[in-house]
Amino acid sequence: MSRLVAVSNRLPLGDNPSGGLVVALEDALRSSGGLWVGFSGEQVDNPADDLTWHPGASFERASFDLSRRDYQDYYLGYSNSVLWPLCHGRADLVRIEPAHLEGYRRVNARIAELLVPHLKPDDRIWVQDYHLFGLAAELRRRGVEGPIGHFLHIPFPGPGDCAALPNPAELFDWLSHYDLLGFQAHRDLSNFTESARQLVEADQTEHCHFRLCGRTVRAGVFPIGIDAAAFMELARHAPDEDEMRFLTGAQMMIGVDRLDYSKGIPQRFRAFQLLLEKIPDLHEKIVFLQIAPPTREEVEAYRDIREETEHLAGRINGQFATINWTPIRFIHRPIPRNVLAGLYRQGRIGLVTPLADGMNLVAKEYVAAQDEDDPGVLILSRFAGAAETMDRALIINPHDPWELAGAMAQAMRMSREERRSRHADLLAGVVERDVGWWSRTYLDALAAGSGG
Ligand code: UDP
Repeated sequence: MSRLVAVSNRLPLGDNPSGGLVVALEDALRSSGGLWVGFSGEQVDNPADDLTWHPGASFERASFDLSRRDYQDYYLGYSNSVLWPLCHGRADLVRIEPAHLEGYRRVNARIAELLVPHLKPDDRIWVQDYHLFGLAAELRRRGVEGPIGHFLHIPFPGPGDCAALPNPAELFDWLSHYDLLGFQAHRDLSNFTESARQLVEADQTEHCHFRLCGRTVRAGVFPIGIDAAAFMELARHAPDEDEMRFLTGAQMMIGVDRLDYSKGIPQRFRAFQLLLEKIPDLHEKIVFLQIAPPTREEVEAYRDIREETEHLAGRINGQFATINWTPIRFIHRPIPRNVLAGLYRQGRIGLVTPLADGMNLVAKEYVAAQDEDDPGVLILSRFAGAAETMDRALIINPHDPWELAGAMAQAMRMSREERRSRHADLLAGVVERDVGWWSRTYLDALAAGSGG
């Protein structure tokens, strides 16, 4: 079989936290062999003009460094101050700088330049996420003819948000150089179709086939999963309840999110406040543990969300805490996944309430971690990609504190029988569509279109 070459913004080199993308790609590369190329995480004055190889994994790994200017323009700038907010429905947070777009083009071209000498003619190239939309166009320009696929881990914006880009037509031109565009949810595929139709020359020729900017592209929905079997195992062997002394008999509600404005953390704090105001019986009976490690703190919008969140947690704790009870525990540090697995398992409620989210793997991890005999309840935002398949969760609108507080109260009183029935259905879906299913389905579709 031809070699798989995965390219992502970041190459995990041991000490990175294992996010969803990392676990998913490692799994795909381990089973088929291949090469993974990405940013080393090092900003240097003069980046080398070849890839650096990292032996020691069951597949090949090669990294590149970025100059400080490239990191600023490509990563913090266009990727995370234009594309990320737009894809998450926050045009108000977009900061447009021509130099950032220039940097994004420059880095996509440079990665193509570094990659091409190491490619074989029948390689299948799988490009990951919004940092590298422009990579296929740059590879094609350098003569690469084999199949190139793209998978977008975050939502695809609708026409209104796409129109707020400094370069909407260029985005679709970039995408038109791929053979297969993969999206997390049907919502994203229909946003793509609608945005392309309104903003550039685009036509759907048959199911999932498009004429886009004069080229033929296929697009499909491939919801990403987790390594469910491994995560269930991790949770079973997690630290026991002695570690949970802070609960002093109360039930735990748990949220785990990078401290990102798309995750709806202030909204869930306000809903929790409303719950405590309206149902005093719950005082001292529920503790809300929010784990929210820092992320992209060089970007202003992320400093703002940190301040807002800390302020709210302090205010709510000040309003309700007693000598023996702190209603909100807020941890602003990353927690290793094996510890998370145990915390999820202890959580009577898993709170996943993003305002916009590609998939949200925490929702799937929470379900996989539960004790099947006495499981907790997942409260899930309708705006997470996960909501399309996890409809046995309590699906809520995160903007409505009354609805969210109502779901918290419902979860606290839900019978064991109902919890077991909902959880069994959710778990079956998480196990069936795990990470192996995701990569196999995507790569089969990529191969099907290229005759190989
Ligand atoms: N995660 C972690 N430690 C933390 C917080 C999160 O390992 O302190 C992991 C979490 O288990 C999940 C991933 O980071 O696998 C977050 O993925 P998700 O799709 O929920 O959100 P993203 O961060 O990709 O937007």
